Amino acid sequence: MDFSYKSISSIPSVVWYHLKEGNVNWTMTIWSILMHTLTLKGLTVIPQCKPETLLFAFLLWPMTGFGITVGVHRLWSHRSYEAHFIVRVVLMLVNSMANQTSIYHWSRDHRVHHKHSETTADPHNATRGFFFSHIGWLLLKKDRAVVEAGKDMDFSDLLEDPVVRFQHMLDPIFPQFMCFVVPSYTANYFWGEDLWKAFLVAGCVRYIWVKHCTFLVNSAAHLYGDHPYDTASYPAENPVVSWFAIGEGWHNWHHKYPYDYACSEFGISSQFNPSKLLIDALAAVGLVWNRKRGTAAWSHGKARRDRDAAAGIPYPRVNTRPWEIQIETKKAL
Ligand SMILES: [Zn+2]
Ligand SMILES: [Zn+2]
Repeated sequence: MDFSYKSISSIPSVVWYHLKEGNVNWTMTIWSILMHTLTLKGLTVIPQCKPETLLFAFLLWPMTGFGITVGVHRLWSHRSYEAHFIVRVVLMLVNSMANQTSIYHWSRDHRVHHKHSETTADPHNATRGFFFSHIGWLLLKKDRAVVEAGKDMDFSDLLEDPVVRFQHMLDPIFPQFMCFVVPSYTANYFWGEDLWKAFLVAGCVRYIWVKHCTFLVNSAAHLYGDHPYDTASYPAENPVVSWFAIGEGWHNWHHKYPYDYACSEFGISSQFNPSKLLIDALAAVGLVWNRKRGTAAWSHGKARRDRDAAAGIPYPRVNTRPWEIQIETKKAL
């Protein structure tokens, strides 16, 4: 992140430029300000909440996170495995609780991101800096190049799934209901939590927290970390982001082999990846199948590692200690 005087002092002129050019997406900007304000209020009431509410809000982090990672990302955006109808329904419900737009819209933006990474057609182009790739892209209207890129791609497969169609038809009412009303009344009904506190903590604080965990994949995992699989690309292997985003920080591998359901080269014992663990557990009981892996690429990588090992070059070249993450500066592609 660039905290230099030059970058901070340029904020007013950047904001003024976008206001003048009419680039601001006011609906999203007002929504974001409102939700972050409620989140700040929510943080102040945490000490007055019942322990059950705090545990519930904490558990909603991975629960709703799986709706993003296992659901809209690995299943619907990349088709990296297939899932039973029941699994798809549950993933759609927890995805709605995460409330990050409909599965259709999320997948559309994400496929455009993969195809046009770090160009003007990338919805969250990381060459525009940390803030833009993290949240700024949602506060501005889409670049014309992004819209045109979307028109050139086919997303009809998404709406062939009745589960996706159902959620898309009820968007945005259904996700709002699942994200805020269901957790608030759950905490109120089952352990008598005050409705307002349940809404603030299990609703707003948890919602904003999970959103920022997701955003870190687009910002930090595109700017900081190692590039063992594709040295020319921005996406990086970032173990810290994997902790926040339950296994999505192994992003250099993921952009190289997006069809890989694990979104990482190694198993869960060496790379933190609870999303892979969940898919494997569902496969073990026959609820998901056809899990794709970057097998050919993996074998190629293994041959390379063996050659490196013989030459005395250490591997894996993935940082395991957060404070050693390299901060790289690259020219725009
Ligand atoms: Zn990416
Ligand atoms: Zn992806």
